[in-house]
Amino acid sequence: MKVYLLGTGGPEITLHRQGSAVLIEVNDQKLLFDAGRSVLQRLFECSVSIADVTQIFFTHMHSDHIEGLPNLWMTGWFSHGRTRPLDIWGPSGTKRMIDGMREMYRFDLANRIDPRHPPEALETRVTEYSEGVIYERNGVVITAFEVWHDDGNPAFGFRIAHAGRSVVLSGDTTYHENVIQFAQETDLLVHNVIAVSDELAQLPKLQSVLAKLTTPEQAADIFRRTAPRLAVYTHVIKKGLANGNHDSVLIERTRQAGYAGPLEVGLDRMTIDIGESVNVIPPPAIAVD
Ligand SMILES: [Zn+2]
Repeated sequence: MKVYLLGTGGPEITLHRQGSAVLIEVNDQKLLFDAGRSVLQRLFECSVSIADVTQIFFTHMHSDHIEGLPNLWMTGWFSHGRTRPLDIWGPSGTKRMIDGMREMYRFDLANRIDPRHPPEALETRVTEYSEGVIYERNGVVITAFEVWHDDGNPAFGFRIAHAGRSVVLSGDTTYHENVIQFAQETDLLVHNVIAVSDELAQLPKLQSVLAKLTTPEQAADIFRRTAPRLAVYTHVIKKGLANGNHDSVLIERTRQAGYAGPLEVGLDRMTIDIGESVNVIPPPAIAVD
């Protein structure tokens, strides 16, 4: 299995992190999990064949997880040669969301006709899922499990398994027993994280945000209880920390809370190869064109 961290940021604009998106290549399949801001750009930068990205799974419907979809859908069609429809899995409400997207792009759907680009590639086939196995193909099994994201519910995490290997994505969630249950001894646990200064943590508006996500201290407990071969932070939110909000603070706080196992802070375009060993490949430099 090969995992691309395409976007490792939260909703806010930052210089180096785009919105949530993870691509997993396994067997002959490319599976995209969430489609946050700039997902198409990141796929392009990672030299992934965009025409082949047709299977998309949403953890929940907050804007920072869906806003890259229209670009992937439209530009992937007319500019990257996609010939197949998009298959989309999402929680209850996804059909209505996709109908809304189609309405927003009604002009293109009616007028942007070009014989080089088959119109059926703009079809969208939606499956609304609930907890359980939601996908099984050529030995790849995806299981959705409920998590808790307060104003983002229904919200889910995913376990993606193949040939005795697995990846678990927490999605956006506060500390949740389901993550611990489904991530037992997984190869890779990709978990959201939020870290703010003690002063900011007192503010009511931040308390509500902290309550729907996971702090490094909570994550340390989750990692201890699941013992993944590698834990990686994503959906990285940092506010008011010492050292200019450097990522190292996340590692330090997790270590101080008692987790000593393998841990990385995810970066956009970082890839992780999972086999006999779990190898992290840092983001390559991008040539200027
Ligand atoms: Zn989010």
